[in-house]
Amino acid sequence: MIDIKRIWQDACQKIVGIEGVNAISYSVWIASLTPLCVKDNTLILLAPSVNNKHVVNRSYKSAIQSALESIGSIFTDVRIIVDEEKDFYYKEIEEYTDNTVNYNEKESQFISRYTFDNFVVGESNKLAFHAAQSVAKSPGVAENTYLSFNPLFLYGGVGLGKTHLLHSIGNYVNEHMPHLKVLYTPTEKLTNDYVEAISNNRNEKGVFNLHAFREKYRTVDMLMLDDVQFLQKRTGLQEVVFHIFNDLYQNGKQIVLTSDRPPSEISTLEDRLRSRFEGGLIADIGAPNLEMRIAIIRKKMILEKIAVNDDVVYYLAERIDSNIRELEGSLAKVIFYAKLKGLPYPDIDTAKEALKNTVQKKHGVDSSDIIQATCSYFNISQSDIISKKRTKDIAEARMIAIYIITEMLSLPLVTIGQMFGGRDYSTIIHSRDKIASLAKDDPDTIRAIKDIKSMLN
Ligand code: ADP
Ligand code: MG
Repeated sequence: MIDIKRIWQDACQKIVGIEGVNAISYSVWIASLTPLCVKDNTLILLAPSVNNKHVVNRSYKSAIQSALESIGSIFTDVRIIVDEEKDFYYKEIEEYTDNTVNYNEKESQFISRYTFDNFVVGESNKLAFHAAQSVAKSPGVAENTYLSFNPLFLYGGVGLGKTHLLHSIGNYVNEHMPHLKVLYTPTEKLTNDYVEAISNNRNEKGVFNLHAFREKYRTVDMLMLDDVQFLQKRTGLQEVVFHIFNDLYQNGKQIVLTSDRPPSEISTLEDRLRSRFEGGLIADIGAPNLEMRIAIIRKKMILEKIAVNDDVVYYLAERIDSNIRELEGSLAKVIFYAKLKGLPYPDIDTAKEALKNTVQKKHGVDSSDIIQATCSYFNISQSDIISKKRTKDIAEARMIAIYIITEMLSLPLVTIGQMFGGRDYSTIIHSRDKIASLAKDDPDTIRAIKDIKSMLN
């Protein structure tokens, strides 16, 4: 069977430079095409929008054909289609299904453990949970005609599961409808993109201008914007978001938004955006009650495969009542303490000891605080962070923890190396320097460091 995905990738490698295709036009118009199948020696490419299809047909089709020719492809023609035309090719698509590109597969943007299954549902979050599930199952489509779930607006305090629900939607759609293109963006990232786009606007070499910005956000099947209370009143930004919103909405694409408060209370929001945000379903997430907090700790124990005595579970659930992230962090801390003491699982004394420190006015932060805060921020386990595992999120968390430790505590590098599973001090230096350089201009790193430090207070 012909591997069209491969052929398309090879052609893409060649296309910049052919008939005036430059890096910008490539990234805006061509990179978003997906090879679907072959019919009558014609390669069928799926465009994310009608507009994209028209532009490619008008300006880039022959360049694409030349690129295919240059890699010796047997296809003599290409045809660009949009979603609605797919039915016509269903037989061929079926035949080529294994080779079609999965939009979200490349490197999933979604945290794998943030799933609906891992989310504990109770009084305080059931509306948000069911709405999120419904949107995941039928994106863009109202469940019934009386109630539109588009946009879905979730709001609630810090650490109550908003981001978890967005990732759950993403993971669900990835698994069940991999052909759909889902984009998850923290609002700060959107703002940064926008700033980059307007500053590169006149730069011929730049790959990212305002046009590319718009295309990035409006050529998706689902847009999830996290923490929209951070949408700044910056000239032009809210206007662009407004138009992206309208485009997506009119094309039946799903929009999901989160915030720490309802749209009516986001004072920086322009009225027209506010009214758009209010146009669908607004669901709030409240603080969990005791029963739910216990259930969350138990769930976490199952996921982490750890045993904790009931009295410890109650102790934690009673003390930490308003923020699930903190609840998880405390559990992690208790477990960490038990490990340090060589206990098979934490007892109530260890729990008291561990939590006393967080509540008491502290003299200072120590390395286990930093490790614990970093783990709970990245939602990874403490055994992972000191292990040899090198998956992206674990490695990143580890480097950030090392960086913060070197920055805040004056410990010998060798000692830090020992804390992290006996790593060589040169590894510690490498981690420290790498994050130090990212901390200059990478917004995600900057934010992570800031948030972790604020958790330490
Ligand atoms: P928010 O985005 O609202 O600030 P997060 O989605 O980041 O909060 O949640 C904080 C942590 O609490 C995450 O690790 C998440 O998995 C966990 N969490 C929140 N709500 C629940 C829940 N209902 N069940 C299980 N875990 C939860
Ligand atoms: Mg969040």
